[in-house]
Amino acid sequence: MSRPVPNPGILDIAPYTPGKSPVAEPGRKVFKLSANETPFGPSPKAIEAFKNVAAHLEDYPEGTSRVLREAIGRSFGLDPNRIICGAGSDEILNLLAHTYLSQGDEAISTTHGFLVYPIATMAVGAKNVVAQETNLTCNVDAILNAVTPKTKLVWLANPNNPTGTYVPFDEVKRLRAGLPSHVLLVLDAAYSDYVSRNDYEMGIELVATTENTVVTHTFSKIHGLAALRVGWMFGPEHIIDAVNRIRGPFNVSTPAMYAAVAAIEDTAHQAMSKQFTETWRNWLSEEIGKLGLKVTPGVANFVLIHFPENGKTADEADAYLTKRGLVLRALKNYRLPHSLRMTIGTEEANRLVVEGLRDFMAGK
Ligand SMILES: *Cc1c(COP(=O)(O)O)cnc(C)c1O
Repeated sequence: MSRPVPNPGILDIAPYTPGKSPVAEPGRKVFKLSANETPFGPSPKAIEAFKNVAAHLEDYPEGTSRVLREAIGRSFGLDPNRIICGAGSDEILNLLAHTYLSQGDEAISTTHGFLVYPIATMAVGAKNVVAQETNLTCNVDAILNAVTPKTKLVWLANPNNPTGTYVPFDEVKRLRAGLPSHVLLVLDAAYSDYVSRNDYEMGIELVATTENTVVTHTFSKIHGLAALRVGWMFGPEHIIDAVNRIRGPFNVSTPAMYAAVAAIEDTAHQAMSKQFTETWRNWLSEEIGKLGLKVTPGVANFVLIHFPENGKTADEADAYLTKRGLVLRALKNYRLPHSLRMTIGTEEANRLVVEGLRDFMAGK
């Protein structure tokens, strides 16, 4: 008997595995450090805004997320008409793939790029082309060399997840200048709020001055609203217009919209979180380094810890820490089988991870 058959490419997609949810030995407190969630939660003002709309759940949301686009516009100095909001940036990335890719096209991402990119690419029957990184960092020349007549789109998380590394803005501009003008460059700035480097920019200026670049962003990371699913994109007018035609008419819920407005306006909460993250990122890199492990500190809210290929492996460390209630992210499906990604947690969690790794390395 025949049965429905998925479109070409769908069954080639490896399902996305989210950060493990915690199971530890009885009596151990559990710290989930596997999904880059903030240890602070959202701004209390965002929680209040969320609660305030609970009395009107029977009403459809305002379909263009106007209040949120205006708040984002004020915060970044952008024209709200050139912003689209989505149910997480995941939705926006998928909308971009649906709008600009089809069967036979190619989209480029990097060796350890975010896994949503190949999924979004392959979901529309296009081919995911991998450009090699150098030292766990995007290599602009490798991307340019991977371009073929079939290339339609380039995905670049800056800073990247799971490596935490970033590309200076000069290099991003060189990438844009080297790509054919019909190729869409997607700059995913999910972690930009954590970066304090003079040579880094989200890429707003490129979006404003070209017709082929977009920046996406999220409320899931520094704003602590991952559960509500809110993301956004800033783009040229013609791209906003095209994507708006396939966007679900009520894709952002009212509670999500209002919580996000309050979150983006609470700059003190963001500054506190950024400062804390930087302090503990430095501390973790140094302390874990002292244990004889290599660390890629990156510029985001996580660190990448590298283990030897034999002896004390990443798998063993993962199992050891999990038993202690310390849940990190294994990265086999990111082509990093010898590394674990640790989201920077509370002071208690951070200290426990270093203690756990010290005991693990000592064979205790
Ligand atoms: C976490 C993350 C996002 C955010 O995804 P949402 O769907 O907005 O929660 C986007 N890009 C990268 C690289 C991420 O790590």
